[in-house]
Amino acid sequence: MVTENEKKVVGEVPFSEAYINNRVKLFDKVPLEMPLCVSIEPSNICNFKCLMCWQSTEEFKKCATPFMNMSMEVFEKTIADLKEMKSKTGKRLKLLKFYFRGEPLLHSEIGNMLKIAQEADIAECTEVTTNASLLTPDLARTFVEYGLDYFRASIYSVIPENQKRITQTSVTPETVKNNIEYLRKYRDEKGAKKPFICAKIMDSHGDENNIFKKMYENIADETLVDVPWDLAGTEEKALDKLYGGTDEGEKARKKYEDTQNKSKRNNVCRYPFTHCIVEADGKVVICCMDWPGMTNIGHIMEESLYDIWHGKKLYDFRVMQLKTCGSGHPLCDDCALPLQNKPEDELYGFPVEKLSFKE
Ligand code: SF4
Repeated sequence: MVTENEKKVVGEVPFSEAYINNRVKLFDKVPLEMPLCVSIEPSNICNFKCLMCWQSTEEFKKCATPFMNMSMEVFEKTIADLKEMKSKTGKRLKLLKFYFRGEPLLHSEIGNMLKIAQEADIAECTEVTTNASLLTPDLARTFVEYGLDYFRASIYSVIPENQKRITQTSVTPETVKNNIEYLRKYRDEKGAKKPFICAKIMDSHGDENNIFKKMYENIADETLVDVPWDLAGTEEKALDKLYGGTDEGEKARKKYEDTQNKSKRNNVCRYPFTHCIVEADGKVVICCMDWPGMTNIGHIMEESLYDIWHGKKLYDFRVMQLKTCGSGHPLCDDCALPLQNKPEDELYGFPVEKLSFKE
């Protein structure tokens, strides 16, 4: 997570290092007065329907409704609450993300949202994660002008037929590449250091990883190959769908576990202690794995984010994590995300008595 000093050169900090540098040692700091990171979901709709995503599951279609873009009323209330948090604690968020279950660039006010958030000065760092298919030149210029820190492009394939199969759209890899290329060109011509452009692809288990790297080596500041994992809380196996069968899915599952070097059952998830998300309709949930809204801890139009953060629902969830390492909640029990905990995130054995909630 970048610090205040590093923010001056944030465009020079690779995305892959930004959240590792100066990481907060949670065992010494929990309970935190405010989250380190808040995600805002500009839209829960996506123009892609990727095979391995919630968006293509039957369950998501039933439980994620209403499908909508966030109203500016909900957005502005969220920003007002973050300002209130800042004045109560004297701190800003380490990170404000514009992304959750849908494609954020579907929101016609996404540039304006960034502007409002930057002017409110509530976060040390801002980040947009997007499939980049809707990145117009206008929007690219807005991101540069308003000092977006990280632009993360999720590339689903660089091979036209694969792209079509995975995303179930007719958007070509060339279109996505051209959009990001314009952002890079405009940023560099302006002499701006930000946004840092990170392009990532899911491990293809083949030559496509290298084709991707070659295609983006002069466009992105960093290219990453992600090792994907299964979605929690659904019978539909994302990895089987992505890799085209149960054997291939199983191999991918094993690869993910092998890269983590952790055991789930003595691993407390950090998210309830550090993160929260404001969904498009104003509902507040805990983590990016919660596509069905099973960690609902409040609503932004009914309570302040500060009160939600210090409230009984989140307290109970934290106690559950500390006492059961997630097995006491159906979504957490099925979730592989805590396997990615870094040493600084370790909360196993943290005394429950140190937690409290406001009535
Ligand atoms: S274990 Fe998974 S579902 Fe539970 S809070 Fe952590 S990230 Fe979310």
